[in-house]
Amino acid sequence: MRVYLDNNATTKLDDEVFKTMTPYLTEYYGNASSLHLFSKETTEAMNKARETVAEILGVSGEEIIFTASGSEADNMALRGIAKAYRNRGKHLISSTIEHHAVKNTLKDLANEGYEITELPVDQNGVVDLKALEEAIREDTILISVMHANNEVGTFQPVEEIARIARAHKIVFHVDAVQTMGKVEIKPKETGIDLLSFSAHKFYGPKGIGGLYWRNGVRFANTLTGGNQERHRRPGTSDVASMVGLAAALKKAVAGMKEEFRREEELRDYFEREILKKIPEIVINAKGVKRLAGTSSVTFKYLEGESILLSLSMKGIAVSSGSACSSDDLQASHVLLAMGIDPKFAHGTIRFSLGKYNTKEEIDYVVNALAEIVERLRNLSPLWNEFKSGQK
Ligand SMILES: *Cc1c(COP(=O)(O)O)cnc(C)c1O
Repeated sequence: MRVYLDNNATTKLDDEVFKTMTPYLTEYYGNASSLHLFSKETTEAMNKARETVAEILGVSGEEIIFTASGSEADNMALRGIAKAYRNRGKHLISSTIEHHAVKNTLKDLANEGYEITELPVDQNGVVDLKALEEAIREDTILISVMHANNEVGTFQPVEEIARIARAHKIVFHVDAVQTMGKVEIKPKETGIDLLSFSAHKFYGPKGIGGLYWRNGVRFANTLTGGNQERHRRPGTSDVASMVGLAAALKKAVAGMKEEFRREEELRDYFEREILKKIPEIVINAKGVKRLAGTSSVTFKYLEGESILLSLSMKGIAVSSGSACSSDDLQASHVLLAMGIDPKFAHGTIRFSLGKYNTKEEIDYVVNALAEIVERLRNLSPLWNEFKSGQK
């Protein structure tokens, strides 16, 4: 059996979505910016894709910028605001649990002379609103907090943050890469000024994302070139991917509530079963509103990597920490920010379910996991030390 439980890293392209894209990879190849007959279909498809996304978000098509990824959207938002508002100030506020696309962009901006405040989170990974109020200064130009965390799934109080940002007339950016297509998002109603998303997280193609940029928020370019995307994001339009993003979003949104409930039930079943079968584990962020398919589990006295590799040999794909931190040996910044003992943080695995997962797969994973954990713990000096201490 092969079981894919790494849907927060990327998802399988939906077959129906792929079919909507193929004409624009083969038949219709005209440059969407050209004025001749070969561009009629591509221009129309691009406009329609943009309108579809805008309508779902309840915004205007002008406010949607297609990008090459969620990471690029985050970069454009942060670097763009830093540049456009630098006369007003050089202070940016974010959180300790952001994705690397935000975290490392802010680090780079700090090297360029901007000042960054990273807000702490509680043990469930929820951003501290009091700390936000206290962090705001005269020269604060941006607040950037993610909608839901990719490692533990925790939703952030974006409505409250938006209210605070608005009261202080500070631009508010939300990385919604993990939530787009999973929960309803209406940036205008919520008071979000900029919002990043990425197609491959909701069964669309890789290599395309988008950024909502509210009309009225100052814009500054971070890339220069042609006049595509209303002079905001140069580069020949990838119409096939735009069509795919829009089709994937439309489909995801259509079955959103049912799928959220289904995944949540499946995830809760998974957690109940492993809690029954495996001793000394902790389910992270269990007490708060989480992404339906995300389960972050700490297996005490074990290394996450050895569990991951053993599961992989049984055909099961999971992640230790976030995909980006998988190849360095530091414990996840998210888990550490939540106050998880560094000694145990290394033993954490993220299981992220998606729309193709079934109960049979979960049963297979639970059994494999119980067996693997027992085998690895029997070899673990830390575990044996713990066991003999118990006697
Ligand atoms: C995946 C992810 C990103 C990056 O998106 P890409 O399209 O892979 O660049 C950014 N933020 C969050 C929260 C993510 O989960």
